Amino acid sequence: IYTNFIRLDRDPNRIIGIMALIQDVTEMRKLENMRSEFVANVSHELKTPLTSIAGFIETLKSGAIDNEKVRKRFLDIIEIETERLGRLIDDLLSLSAIENNKFSLTREEINVNEVITEINDMVEGLVTQKHIHYHVEVEASLPPIVGNRDWFKQMMLNLIDNAIKYTPEGGTVKVLAYKKYDNLFLVVKDTGIGIPKQDIPRLFERFYRVDKARSRKIGGTGLGLAIVKHIVLSLNGEIRVSSELNKGSEFTVRIPLLGQRS
Ligand code: ADP
Repeated sequence: IYTNFIRLDRDPNRIIGIMALIQDVTEMRKLENMRSEFVANVSHELKTPLTSIAGFIETLKSGAIDNEKVRKRFLDIIEIETERLGRLIDDLLSLSAIENNKFSLTREEINVNEVITEINDMVEGLVTQKHIHYHVEVEASLPPIVGNRDWFKQMMLNLIDNAIKYTPEGGTVKVLAYKKYDNLFLVVKDTGIGIPKQDIPRLFERFYRVDKARSRKIGGTGLGLAIVKHIVLSLNGEIRVSSELNKGSEFTVRIPLLGQRS
């Protein structure tokens, strides 16, 4: 707590009153800390692939370029790391745009069925490659929700993409969408690796990963769920997670349908 007393009288011998300004700076300090922690995290996340790219270029230049096999392997790594950098920058830009509410003005009627069909097409390749049993059950007559369509799609894609990423080959991913008591429920369920109980409260923090090495290996940025959280909030909704280690996870988004304006 920060306290500031101000003398109100010009004559120093005559005090006619004291005004006190009491301001709670703990919240401000917390925000400042979060901001500088975020900057440190971003720098670290950007630096890791850059260091690796620089290292491989250096090794290529000092001779490895003459060996065709080595050259190909190193160039592949450089390509993967460059793509990771691109994804990271895209995610950072998305996060900052959502946080600044840049898109809250573009509110439109979103046909949930249509968006999920588009996502099915986007993930088809990965689903086939991993032999995932992918089931989608969307109620036929869902009313439209009102919001930014691109953000809504990004939210669903992040959840479905995670479910596929964190489910071993041959597993199952289910996507459900239904209406109940004037709410739209969206459920993404998988039979994947699951999430330890103690990690669940921190899951939606930027850059929080249960297993950093695993997330890196499968190309994650650690920002997907932070983006999801902000989009859910922009739709006045809420998100719940239930999970069991080595059994699977279930992410449920509830979006109220009443009180929405188009
Ligand atoms: P990432 O890019 O690492 O996937 P996210 O923000 O999307 O970042 O998710 C944060 C972390 O939450 C992941 O690193 C992973 O540990 C965990 N996670 C998210 N979705 C799932 C899931 N369906 N199954 C198991 N773990 C998950």
